[in-house]
Amino acid sequence: MTSLYGMSAPLLSWYRQVARDLPWRKDGSPYAVWISEIMLQQTRVEAVKPYYTRFLNALPDPAALAACPDDVLYKLWQGLGYYRRAAGLKKCAIRLMEEYGGQLPANYEQLLDLPGIGPYTAGAIASIAFGLPVPAVDGNVLRVFSRLAAYGEDITLPAAKKVVDELVRQAMPKDAPGDFNQALMELGATVCLPKGEPKCLVCPVQAFCQAKENGCPTAYPVRPEKKPKKLERYTLFVLTSLNQLCLVKPKADGLLQGLYALPSASGHLNRKDAETYLHTLGITAHTLTPLPPARHIFTHIRWEMVGYLGQISGPLPKGWALASRDALDHRYAVPSAYARYVDHWKER
Ligand code: SF4
Repeated sequence: MTSLYGMSAPLLSWYRQVARDLPWRKDGSPYAVWISEIMLQQTRVEAVKPYYTRFLNALPDPAALAACPDDVLYKLWQGLGYYRRAAGLKKCAIRLMEEYGGQLPANYEQLLDLPGIGPYTAGAIASIAFGLPVPAVDGNVLRVFSRLAAYGEDITLPAAKKVVDELVRQAMPKDAPGDFNQALMELGATVCLPKGEPKCLVCPVQAFCQAKENGCPTAYPVRPEKKPKKLERYTLFVLTSLNQLCLVKPKADGLLQGLYALPSASGHLNRKDAETYLHTLGITAHTLTPLPPARHIFTHIRWEMVGYLGQISGPLPKGWALASRDALDHRYAVPSAYARYVDHWKER
């Protein structure tokens, strides 16, 4: 295996020239690093920027986050997906208030013990915000090191993570662990790309890369075959009452816990069955117009949806709520899985 000692100097020199100007890098506080790292686990850097700025303006420190009502928190998170992470942030902020005087601890093990903070996030906060020499190994870093070391085993296994963790520790300069970890993330995001050919010719650590030397960088990382996603079919109801949209109040469990949903039924119902279903809930829809089908992909599940647009009157079933357009925009957090159908209502 090629020695990775010595790769930090060219990597850091490259990073200091090309590092993107990102709002959380300017701030650099433990809170900013924590929030940005959790958001970056959801989506791309460019997509995170406006969320990050909005979130930090509304909730500038752990005290504000710990005291934030769930509805407001989920609204700030709306569009990022995987709302359990937002709930985890608040839970963690409450612990910080109770046990650490509202500050993130400058200790890797204590960070790891906090709710919603795994080894990667703990490593990122410890190294970037506190300068502690610990790795922060995410999918990008796994990919980069699997190529650097031409690691031929399944990268999804815990053993692979251990190997990469050790390689990062060996290569990490003790005087710049935060920059080193960020440089690896930057390399994975802009040069050693996950899809298509990596840009080996402009890579600052190409001299250390076994996969490049072997002429097969795309052979790494080695992964098992993907399991097909579980398919779930739903019929969604986009129902108007008193010029407001009918929503179902959040349930405490399930995939979209804590969020407002559109009323729905399992399976794809034809119009007659859809009307019958609404009748069983005590609802008469004055019109029921079919909407185009839509799909949404979660990590392990695929939703195939059909929908109906309708007008209803009379009392709502228990657990339903009405939302005006303004409340939809500013108050209720509705998951992006429903976005196509909510847009139909807004555009009707
Ligand atoms: Fe990735 Fe190519 Fe650099 Fe190796 S030389 S780390 S494969 S970009």
